[in-house]
Amino acid sequence: MKQIKDKHFIPFIEADKLQARIRNLAQEINKDYAGKNPLLIGVLNGSFMFIGDLFKSIEIDCEVTFIRVSSYQHTESTGEVKQIIGLKEDIKNRHVIIVEDIVDTGMTMQEVLGQLASNKPASIKILTLLYKPEALKVPLKVDYIGFSIETKFVVGYGLDYDGMGRNLDAIYVLDEKS
Ligand code: 5GP
Repeated sequence: MKQIKDKHFIPFIEADKLQARIRNLAQEINKDYAGKNPLLIGVLNGSFMFIGDLFKSIEIDCEVTFIRVSSYQHTESTGEVKQIIGLKEDIKNRHVIIVEDIVDTGMTMQEVLGQLASNKPASIKILTLLYKPEALKVPLKVDYIGFSIETKFVVGYGLDYDGMGRNLDAIYVLDEKS
């Protein structure tokens, strides 16, 4: 049990299990992208720890960079619009893999995918550590999934609750009794 601010979290995915699954994902990348020099684009902040471990297990030629997604109110009718910031690389004709910590409603990834696809990469795929299939609100193809989980709030291994908990080496789930 971990207390973060006012909430209690209980163990959900152990560190060893995370690392074993991440090595499997890296093997899939090694196989699918051999000779393609893929560019991994990590979505900050949540993906930083995951992409570090994933990247270390990838053995083929590959590169890594990071983006952030900023939210701002566009107009009253369109509501929240997300914009990518920080991409310096030219991704035209590159094989791009977007690396996310968690896909929940899918809205962030749908937006990121659309904006990156407009730069004409050779291919573009989504890789996420965690995926909540029942929370998905938009059509989205997630190509590589670490773990499919229930629609519950999780922290640890890069994921935060109000800025805290990112340093935990495993995933914890909110104790709904707390
Ligand atoms: P989406 O646009 O798919 O609804 O949300 C994606 C973002 O919401 C993730 O990158 C993450 O920042 C946040 N998020 C969604 N579910 C969780 C969760 O269970 N725990 C934490 N810490 N963040 C989450």
